[in-house]
Amino acid sequence: MNLNHQQKEALRNLPAVDHVLEISKSDPFFKEVPRSVLIRSIRSDLDNRRRQIIEQDPANIDELLADAAVVTGVKDLVRQAESLNLRETVNATGIVIHTNLGRSLLSETAIEHLSAVSRRYSNLEFDLDKGRRGSRYANVEDLICEISGAESAMAVNNCAGAVLLALETMAAGKKVIISRGELVEIGGSFRIPDVMVKSGGILCEVGTTNRTHLRDYENAVDDQTALLLKVHKSNYSVIGFSAEVSLKDLVALGQKHQVPVMEDLGSGTFIDFSRYGLLKEPTVQESVSAGVDIITFSGDKLLGGPQAGLVVGKKTCIDRIKKNPITRALRIDKLTLAALESTLRLYRDEEKAVQAIPTLRMMLQPIATLEEKAGRLKKMLESAGRSRLTVASLDLVSRPGGGSLPLLELPSKGLGIAVDGLSANAIEKSLRLSSPPIIGRIEDDMYVVDMRTLQDDELEIIRSAFETLLT
Ligand SMILES: *Cc1c(COP(=O)(O)O)cnc(C)c1O
Repeated sequence: MNLNHQQKEALRNLPAVDHVLEISKSDPFFKEVPRSVLIRSIRSDLDNRRRQIIEQDPANIDELLADAAVVTGVKDLVRQAESLNLRETVNATGIVIHTNLGRSLLSETAIEHLSAVSRRYSNLEFDLDKGRRGSRYANVEDLICEISGAESAMAVNNCAGAVLLALETMAAGKKVIISRGELVEIGGSFRIPDVMVKSGGILCEVGTTNRTHLRDYENAVDDQTALLLKVHKSNYSVIGFSAEVSLKDLVALGQKHQVPVMEDLGSGTFIDFSRYGLLKEPTVQESVSAGVDIITFSGDKLLGGPQAGLVVGKKTCIDRIKKNPITRALRIDKLTLAALESTLRLYRDEEKAVQAIPTLRMMLQPIATLEEKAGRLKKMLESAGRSRLTVASLDLVSRPGGGSLPLLELPSKGLGIAVDGLSANAIEKSLRLSSPPIIGRIEDDMYVVDMRTLQDDELEIIRSAFETLLT
């Protein structure tokens, strides 16, 4: 490394950690900062300055080494170190069940229940009537049965866990028949063939990618067959020359050969969206009444609750699953259970559910509401933006996300925002790094926010972020 005289001199004059520590003592900002955080921040700041001297040979050496500059730098690093990693974030993407942004928001009642149950002890595994040990699953089982019409139910950590658990219980070492068109990858590395291997089940694929017939299943059934499995295609769809076997026919075939039928619904919903003018998504109730033995679905997709995996179906099967020791490793925690119970209760009255459960409310928001919200945000931005901001009202298409209703395009409203002298990428980055972070998207070189996933109080957050950006 060839350093010039000025660089060598600068490195020698770089303040020592102890010196910065000493001057920080008189600054009230550092009073509550843990010593380990402070020292790490000082080291990191001095490292940054050392690197700048070596790599950039800066002209403003005196400024770079001034005590005040170092203290300011250390303060920034302390703030960074002390801010939480998992933070509330504004979703302006229009994707309602955005897995990267935490999928479903909880209803107010679920949030209250969750915080009440975490503030005190709870009867998580205590039967209050009998005064002795109870089952944590009992807290939601009756409710799930009541809403779905199933004989029996349980809840585990997530739907992937539910599928693994059900397959391992029912089919370890035995054959599971599934259509080639349903060997899906959901994302986040959940792939049906891989889960099958891990469960010990032996995958037997029948039919073709686009067409599978009842006779394909029937020809494959033998005395080693433990399950007929149907998997919701979730995030893709086969259109054109395609055929799949109805649940009713599959259940009849299963009964004929005394082989249980399992269906992984993935998203799973208690609400028939076609009643609200949207595309049809098969409901849990329909699968139950078709006679499917085991049905698995997620708690935080279209159900709009916390992360969970629900298993419903015939008592004989669910009882076997409950006894599987793997259940213990997939068990649902009390905070989730509280949020899940409160969410499920809302489904007793569908009208209430579609208003109170944010995922459903956002999915079903009328276009007039979205338009009104867009108009309000446009006015707010224009008064904040003075002359540098151009705001255009846009017709957008938003999506449910989370591997549900892959073909459903929800007409939406939003704004395209341009800032004089800034690229769309620069705007995106600045809003993403603001506090709280705002996640939008870029379309045709414009920064775009979709109204569908914005809560009312988030309009002000966006306005304020643009104001900061412009100053
Ligand atoms: C999403 C999905 C899963 C996984 O659900 P998680 O709750 O995320 O574990 C499993 N199967 C299907 C068909 C899905 O769509």
